[in-house]
Amino acid sequence: MTNNIVVMDNVSKYYGNFCALNKMSFSIKEGEIVGLLGPNGAGKSTAMRIMTCFMPATSGKVTVAGFDTFENPDEVKRNIGYLPETPPLYENMTVLSYLKFAAAIHEIPQKEIASRVGYVIERLGLNEVKRKIIANLSKGYKQRVGLAQAIIHKPKLLILDEPTVGLDPKQIIEIRTLIKSLAGEHTVILSSHILSEVSMTCGRVIIIKEGMKIAEDTVLHLEQTAQSEHRYNIKLILPKDFDFQAETASLASFSLENAVQEDRLLFLKANFENEGDYDIFFNKLTSKGVVFREVTPYKPTLEEVFISLTSSDGKEND
Ligand code: ADP
Ligand code: MG
Repeated sequence: MTNNIVVMDNVSKYYGNFCALNKMSFSIKEGEIVGLLGPNGAGKSTAMRIMTCFMPATSGKVTVAGFDTFENPDEVKRNIGYLPETPPLYENMTVLSYLKFAAAIHEIPQKEIASRVGYVIERLGLNEVKRKIIANLSKGYKQRVGLAQAIIHKPKLLILDEPTVGLDPKQIIEIRTLIKSLAGEHTVILSSHILSEVSMTCGRVIIIKEGMKIAEDTVLHLEQTAQSEHRYNIKLILPKDFDFQAETASLASFSLENAVQEDRLLFLKANFENEGDYDIFFNKLTSKGVVFREVTPYKPTLEEVFISLTSSDGKEND
């Protein structure tokens, strides 16, 4: 067992007959910040509930910090700080008394509780609200209290389920910054259905859809892949009675994403394998009298790469 802090091995989860996780496997190394990315209903929360021993998998094996979630749930929980989709806050408690309570739940020795609570209050910027009733806090502060209870026992691993959902833009930036700063001390797994959220915070993403892992890559590499494609919007004027399909049939190294013809005008959205393939395409068509009226390079955004991954069928990888 190298420095993997989480290993999910062929994990499936059924709710009744419904398969929410389908033979999912991935591993996470100590010190990583990994995003579980997928549309609503993809199975992100389910995967997190299994890792945190909140509920058991139907089949497969999960280890956290070397402990099996079936055999050693107490050890697993000691190593995890968990912020569920709905933070487990007692709304009628003050921040201070809630965090003392959370410390006790996590079996922090009595004599260390005050200093740990003091530390997390400082760390998460809760000083000015520490005597307030949780119910009266803003959503952003509630989320900070949720993060505070997650780190109070110094877990190796933080599991944060959609930590910025429902926050306003200013609070989102604050929570994001806090998460990044916590990442120095903990391995972090967070989930989101928003690509930009994950790409801004995480080094690596695991993209899931309908309970299956469909891609896994570094954010950097995903971005490079998106930027390395050679797509063009092209407007052509064809000679009279020009058969575009027949004339380009021998040029295999491009694919059309869209083609609309209006009389002798042809609008194309074409994806070329290499820059040179565009040149071949251009030379061949101009030699036949086709006029290139407009050519606009078009780079897909990360968002579009994500959408094409999560909307097209049969694009599994391992
Ligand atoms: P995500 O967090 O990615 O939005 P979830 O893990 O919450 O997805 O849910 C995955 C799928 O499992 C969804 O279709 C959801 O409706 C279903 N599901 C989640 N929890 C339960 C449950 N307790 N009982 C039945 N179905 C559930
Ligand atoms: Mg969820």
